[in-house]
Amino acid sequence: MEKKEFYDKIINFIKDLFGNKEFIPLHEPKFIGKEREYVLDTIDSTFVSSVGKYVNEFEKKLAEFVGAKFAVATVNGTAALHIALIVAGVKEGDEVITQPLTFVATCNAISHAGATPVFVDVDLDTLGLSPTALRKFLEDNCILKEGKCINKKTSKVIKAVVPMHTFGHPVKIDEILEIAEEFNLIVVEDAAESLGSLYKGKHTGTFGKLGIFSFNGNKIITSGGGGVIVTDDEDLAKLAKHLTTTAKLPHPWEYVHDMIAYNYRMPNINAALLVGQMENLKFFIENKRELAKIYKKFFNEIGVKFIEEPKGARSNYWLNAIMFDSLKERDEFLEYSNNNGVMTRPIWRLMNKLDMYKDCPKGELNNAIYLEERIVNIPSSVRV
Ligand SMILES: *Cc1c(COP(=O)(O)O)cnc(C)c1O
Repeated sequence: MEKKEFYDKIINFIKDLFGNKEFIPLHEPKFIGKEREYVLDTIDSTFVSSVGKYVNEFEKKLAEFVGAKFAVATVNGTAALHIALIVAGVKEGDEVITQPLTFVATCNAISHAGATPVFVDVDLDTLGLSPTALRKFLEDNCILKEGKCINKKTSKVIKAVVPMHTFGHPVKIDEILEIAEEFNLIVVEDAAESLGSLYKGKHTGTFGKLGIFSFNGNKIITSGGGGVIVTDDEDLAKLAKHLTTTAKLPHPWEYVHDMIAYNYRMPNINAALLVGQMENLKFFIENKRELAKIYKKFFNEIGVKFIEEPKGARSNYWLNAIMFDSLKERDEFLEYSNNNGVMTRPIWRLMNKLDMYKDCPKGELNNAIYLEERIVNIPSSVRV
């Protein structure tokens, strides 16, 4: 079959799935619940900003949903990760291990905390941080000195590891936790994309010392912009709350602050939107899993690899992805689909190739390079 015909077959299938609109976006938010009512309530009450009931309500509901003891809402996911790293003890001059195949926010948050990202390869089945590559990197490059994991080449302390659950597919987090414990690394999960995804029956984001989620407009649910930190550690939760709210000491009228802190609190109007979205989260996840099932059948039939949830995982299938045989084919399809009304995107450019992160320490990245050249995201919005 002609290439063009083959691509048309894919594009027409996707168009049919999304109601044959002129343009099919990659991921659009859906407001089918009480979002409007709750947002209007904040306007009518004037409590749109840093005070109001929706932030507390959201934090309580989110913690309950994922099974964490505490949740701290923030202005966005990047800010959540920045603060999570600080309260985990990451300091200026430290190193933090993460994967090269991630959204740039992961590395930016590590940098904002004053640390340097260290890139370790991903697994082909999860698209996320590989426990095998992590162990190899640590054994080859690091020594434990007085309980600290030291990178022998840079003499810096590796303080933490940040696995990211790519497109909602959980990494092998139990193995990563084991290795991290052995090498005295704190695990902070970048679960920005994987709200509602389970690994061996437990929510992603709740395995590490801390985890974060994002509520940017393209995520599974949105507050316009927003994020949240989750943890079971009360002291860390309190410190996170303190740091995100200008470190103000409670007082009826005096302004007394006891740390250099941040204004990272989620505004009440955003939390109102998010509380409305939360009420449909379970439905969104089931809807997306159904879409993934339909995609899987179709792509299996036409001989294109569809990225499936890894073994032991129940993915939220936030963004669906397919894999081409080469960079050339990937680029042909990207060009053809985007020129014909179906929005598709390549997976991210590897972080170690970006100018600001090109000199960061790294291990062998063969799997990440392989995936970077082949993976394309396809439309994945909830269908209602
Ligand atoms: C979306 C996202 C974030 C956080 O993004 P914000 O836009 O700041 O909410 C962080 N990491 C990953 C992997 C993401 O996809």
